[in-house]
Amino acid sequence: MILDGKALSTTIKQEIRTDVNEMIGKGERPPHLAAVLVGNNPASEAYVGNKVRSCEEVGFSSTLIRRPESISEQELLDIVRDLNEDDEVDGFIVQLPLPPHINEEKVTLAIDPRKDVDGFHPLNFGRMAQGLPAYLPATPQGVLLLLERNGIETSGQHVVIVGRSNIVGTPLGILLSRKDKVGNATVTMTHSRTRDLAAETRRADILVAAIGIPRFITGDMVKDGVVVIDVGINRIDDATRKSGSRLVGDVDYDEVAPKSKAITPVPGGVGPMTVTALMLNTLKARRREIHHGQ
Ligand code: NAD
Repeated sequence: MILDGKALSTTIKQEIRTDVNEMIGKGERPPHLAAVLVGNNPASEAYVGNKVRSCEEVGFSSTLIRRPESISEQELLDIVRDLNEDDEVDGFIVQLPLPPHINEEKVTLAIDPRKDVDGFHPLNFGRMAQGLPAYLPATPQGVLLLLERNGIETSGQHVVIVGRSNIVGTPLGILLSRKDKVGNATVTMTHSRTRDLAAETRRADILVAAIGIPRFITGDMVKDGVVVIDVGINRIDDATRKSGSRLVGDVDYDEVAPKSKAITPVPGGVGPMTVTALMLNTLKARRREIHHGQ
């Protein structure tokens, strides 16, 4: 089975659109997401472009604030403060990475946790870890939705995660091991210092690859019947394409797909789900569902 993130994200976006139409019908204003983009990193441009387009699809308002690479840290912090105070903005993101002269941690900490729809603020991360209502980081949330809506049972399953980043591997490990609807898995977290990685990945009922190395997970590293979630997005040269390149995941799809029970394609798997999860967080922000009464 192919875990089609593109199709599922279209379905979920339609569900959001219905909710937004209902809001507007009641005379309420639609959710409003703002995005701050510093510089012109092509990948960041593409991600932010996708987010703005998705807002249009679901009926949200969106504001894109673009600033040159030369912006000072203080100027960026001032923008964050203004967005924190703007009652018409429900949630906002500051697209990472930021230029080296700006401290990303300082900027993340300056975001009001009630508007932190990326879920990167330590308060949201901590609440997530304790199972309290929180904005879940978009990519792990997208993975949970893919599993849930495709009827893939996680309870009691052995999940092996490769990659321990703060935005993917680590939060996903926490979410899948907690006592919840999609959870109750036994999680093994692996990374660059793991001894005999293939021995670990071969034990996975569900394997998550979030490494950032093209086609790193090969056929001999998985068992038959595995469910594979490929988070990786890597651009590689391809002379047969007009653009000269194409996107591949962290999993060698051609080798691994025949052994798997279910697998996400790249592109069209986790990627679209990430943007959709951000839309869900923005809807929650509009409804003040998280941090209610704070
Ligand atoms: P990162 O670079 O922050 O972390 C990579 C992790 O991989 C590290 O924890 C490291 O320990 C591990 N690793 C590196 N080499 C390894 C090795 N040889 N063996 C085992 N583990 C190894 O990565 P990230 O930000 O989590 O991103 C990972 C990939 O996912 C990238 O390709 C990125 O583009 C992609 N990504 C996709 C989405 C999406 O929406 N689909 C979102 C975020 C990231």
